[in-house]
Amino acid sequence: MPFEKQQTISDQLFQLIDNLNDSIIIIDLNGEVLYWNKGAENIFAIPREEMIGKKVEEKNPDFKIEKIAERLQEGEVSELRLDWKLERSDGKVIWLDVLLTPMFDEYNNVIAIAGVSKDITDRKKNELLLNRLNEDFHLAVDTAELGIWEMDPETNKIIWNDVLLDIYGISREQFELDYDYWTTLVFPEDYEMALQAMEKVFQGEEVFNIEFRIKRPDGEVRWINGSARPINDEKGRLIKVIGINRDYTAIKSHQISLSEKNAQLKQVNEEMDYFVYSTSHNLRSPLSSTLGIVNLLRHDIDNETKLAYLDLIEKSIVRLDETIREITDYFQNTRSPIGAGQVDIEDIIETIEKDLEMTSFGEKNVLKKKINLGKQISGDPIRLRIILLNLISNAFKYSKKSERICHFECTVKNNKLQFIIEDEGIGIPKEELQNIFKMFYRASNYSTGSGLGLYIVKHSVEKLKGKIKVESELGKGSTFTVEIPIKSV
Ligand code: ADP
Repeated sequence: MPFEKQQTISDQLFQLIDNLNDSIIIIDLNGEVLYWNKGAENIFAIPREEMIGKKVEEKNPDFKIEKIAERLQEGEVSELRLDWKLERSDGKVIWLDVLLTPMFDEYNNVIAIAGVSKDITDRKKNELLLNRLNEDFHLAVDTAELGIWEMDPETNKIIWNDVLLDIYGISREQFELDYDYWTTLVFPEDYEMALQAMEKVFQGEEVFNIEFRIKRPDGEVRWINGSARPINDEKGRLIKVIGINRDYTAIKSHQISLSEKNAQLKQVNEEMDYFVYSTSHNLRSPLSSTLGIVNLLRHDIDNETKLAYLDLIEKSIVRLDETIREITDYFQNTRSPIGAGQVDIEDIIETIEKDLEMTSFGEKNVLKKKINLGKQISGDPIRLRIILLNLISNAFKYSKKSERICHFECTVKNNKLQFIIEDEGIGIPKEELQNIFKMFYRASNYSTGSGLGLYIVKHSVEKLKGKIKVESELGKGSTFTVEIPIKSV
């Protein structure tokens, strides 16, 4: 190539180097700067004029170029590459990727050092952040006692972290940690399920929270909660499987003992229920026989005092019978499933009227009915009877001495069965209205019952997803309104 042409190309090359974004610096063996390009001006934030002919260490003590030059000069290394962190004179901290190479004269003596530096501050910051995150992740893994594994599906080799080795009770040197070895640790009864789950992962699905037992080499059985996920390359090929195992033996044994205790409690509860239900049931038949005998006796006695005693006996028996009936109702409401058969309200009311007549001690009950259903309805006959019997019985029980009147209305509105039970009785004081549905609550001294009836009514209504409300005026009477959602037949 002719000399002029060569000269033009070197000029242009020099221009190019001068304008590069990377910093290019040439320093002689005294540490004095021979060349400082525009990239160096930007990266070090020092103009070329301030640097040419100056010793770099004067500008920034961080420049330890002589030491490096020594190593390069002695031929120890042919070039040096290093990540260099430095604080610029404007206070900004930067990271550089520096490549230092010696420059030679025609006799092959080192005469200067050339340094090419690239600003890698952003990359370095990300690297540091990633390292920190990695450390945090490992800390979290250790603190949470997470056993972590990673499997290469080609070789079947598995890498285990220390926590996992600890859980499985094996040492890193002891065994060849591959998939086949892991399968020998899975408890025989859980083997099928655990292997099927792994098969899913190999086929590309994630598996969460599967529970299986392992039998450790020392014979100890542990409960494991495991999750695993396949990792695919950009072409969708499986390249590894990663997973987490948590030892939850302690939680599991608590769970097991809790569910055993729960089952025991349930059984005791059921036995108690059965005992109370059957006992109360059995008590009722001797009571009605006694009531029959009392009535027979009444015909043979004409002594007023004795008759008065007989009345007292009869009242006590009726009250006892009512309490026992309420206990049976309570258990029927808590235990029996919600019925959904055809319901005949008129029939229920008729039976209630008859039952209540038997316990009215000769007083006349007047039930004024307005039953307007228009169509067949389906519902729960047991609970509807419990609700109506208690409300109508109260209406008569808490009437004024002279007349026992109860107005009963039954309609269907917007798929809701509505009962209104209104009496003209003694009424309930306003401040007592919020209490009358409580268990064993009696709102007045006049009350002779057990205080269970309205409690059972409220719970039966709630079981049927209905609502009950009461309005009352002392001395004038009370109105109970019940609404229960129903299906028309
Ligand atoms: P009890 O067995 O005492 O009748 P309930 O739970 O049926 O128990 O009723 C609770 C209390 O509410 C009663 O003791 C009574 O004071 C009051 N009560 C209930 N219904 C009426 C009513 N229709 N009129 C007046 N008071 C009533």
